[in-house]
Amino acid sequence: MKILLVEDEEGLIFTLTDRLISEGYKVTTARDGEAGLNAGLNNSFDVIILDIMLPKKNGFDVCRELRAKGIFTPILMLTAKGETIDKVVGLKLGADDYLTKPFEIIELLARIEALLRRSTNTIANSLESYSFGDIEIDFRRAEVKKSGIPLDLSAMEFKILQYFIEHRGEVLKRDELLDEVWGYDAMPTTRTVDVHIAWLRQKLEENPRYPVYIQTVHGFGYKFTA
Ligand code: CA
Repeated sequence: MKILLVEDEEGLIFTLTDRLISEGYKVTTARDGEAGLNAGLNNSFDVIILDIMLPKKNGFDVCRELRAKGIFTPILMLTAKGETIDKVVGLKLGADDYLTKPFEIIELLARIEALLRRSTNTIANSLESYSFGDIEIDFRRAEVKKSGIPLDLSAMEFKILQYFIEHRGEVLKRDELLDEVWGYDAMPTTRTVDVHIAWLRQKLEENPRYPVYIQTVHGFGYKFTA
């Protein structure tokens, strides 16, 4: 398993690298945001550990740019103590988890394992491509086309669509979508789900007012039908 560590504190780099290697991980280190972004874009990793306060480019920008370029490697963000705003912003930008400094290494290892488990499950279940109506989805390239024309979906919209397709025909509750797609609790509300679904419908449906693919199941949630 390969880990990209984007961090500028030498002491932390040394401690983490040493421990991760002894746990059997291959570790690549980047000491500033630009180097981290380049490493993330040009190599494949299983997990990216991303500090927020970095020289040249901060962790938020690195995270956003990776997601915008279709890199969906799980990202664990490192925030400084008390910066709760970091957590909110980081998760909105597409990070999968966060850890507040200072942390116990055992805690970091547990988070990494959880992320690896989650992403392995997703890959095992997912399809390479899928199409319905005039929509075509290429999961490997994270591309969606409608009648052959590329659609501009956000990383979150793509994740929701993927989850719907993996669970097609099932009634999905808003809470389940929050847990499974957003992957954390408390911050967004079920209203957030409705908003994102509305955006997805705008992009996918012929008539978003009368959706055919993403149906509302009153009193329960949503159901995707191809
Ligand atoms: Ca730092």
